[in-house]
Amino acid sequence: MLRHGPTIVVSPLKTLMADQVSNLLSRKIPATFINSDLAKDEKRIRFELLKKGAIKLLYLAPERFFVRSEEERNGLKRTRPSFLVIDEAHCVDQWGRDFRPEYGRLHEVREKLGKPTVLAFTATAGREMQQRILSSLGVNDAVIFVRGVDRPNIALVRVKAHESERVNEIAKLLRLRELQGQKAMIFVPSVAVGERLKNALAQLGLEIPFYHSSLGTPWERQELVKRFVGQSRPVADQIICTNAFGMGLDVPNVRLVVHWQQSASVEDQLQEYGRAGRDGRASAAVIFHEGRPEGRDVGRLKFMAEKTAEAAKLSEIESIRMRERRFRQIDQVSAILHSSSCVREAVIDYFEGAKKRQPLSLSTRILDWVFGSRHEAAKIRFCCDHCDAALIKKSGAVGYVAEAVRGRR
Ligand SMILES: [Zn+2]
Repeated sequence: MLRHGPTIVVSPLKTLMADQVSNLLSRKIPATFINSDLAKDEKRIRFELLKKGAIKLLYLAPERFFVRSEEERNGLKRTRPSFLVIDEAHCVDQWGRDFRPEYGRLHEVREKLGKPTVLAFTATAGREMQQRILSSLGVNDAVIFVRGVDRPNIALVRVKAHESERVNEIAKLLRLRELQGQKAMIFVPSVAVGERLKNALAQLGLEIPFYHSSLGTPWERQELVKRFVGQSRPVADQIICTNAFGMGLDVPNVRLVVHWQQSASVEDQLQEYGRAGRDGRASAAVIFHEGRPEGRDVGRLKFMAEKTAEAAKLSEIESIRMRERRFRQIDQVSAILHSSSCVREAVIDYFEGAKKRQPLSLSTRILDWVFGSRHEAAKIRFCCDHCDAALIKKSGAVGYVAEAVRGRR
């Protein structure tokens, strides 16, 4: 705020922009956005305000820098911002799921804006993706801060089970007394698997709705999201979904996230199981796997990756590279699931590197003890199937999840 120039914030979605701008305005911070919804006059007024220094934060989608109107492009060029902020920076990574081509050209944009300081934010980017983001932005020597990858209130349970056994295990989990009146999500890799699971659960008397991107109309999909959030009747506490479900949706009381099988990258896996326990209360994540790295689960994801690479309209070399990257990301998750060590540590290593595992200084520990909630978390901490192997042997995976969700050992 104290800097001379304004700050330009690159954001992928109009709804995110509108949300954040109204939040900032309610805090009396002069912010605005420019997007295609605005009339020409309204845009001109906003550019005028910008020129007069009356705007501190300007929100834009990356495509805005490449619009046809030269007047608009020059308007942006003249702003000479102090900072270029990139929100949802994982969209910069051309090997990531949410890649947007214009996000990949932000280094050019930065040059044209007079090389302002760049700040890029994302909720999930492993070490390799971090490097790819930095090099795409042309800031290879940038400082990286990683935090919040560990979610101590989520117990992580890998369960080896053949596909035919998974339905029964999931039914047992959904029937846990501890979960009644609580939220649970079951992630599936594809529509076909989701439909099969939905029907199989229905045969066991569990009617669970299934959300995926080709379900009904946008309105119907929105309606199902509302039922899950509790804004619409009948409330659906349990849902089967693909990763298309409610991007950016924040439901605080999800107690259990189940994965029919691993996700296509560690980033996706974390983002998905991270939907559990947003309210800080004890929760659990269960991930089924086959017990061997090259089975059907991995095969299915690789097949899907291949299709994506083919559909991406890239040159042959690019397409091969894309496929290889995706395969590697799939194998990285598989390696974590099939290792016989702590899952939590493996995930933290993936994002932060092993070097972070330094003991806290005495002063930090005292500050934590006085002000932090860390010692609270320790009381409810269940770690994973590796660290709590004895407990799982005693109560079984389903029993362990029940205890973990109750939060007391
Ligand atoms: Zn562990």
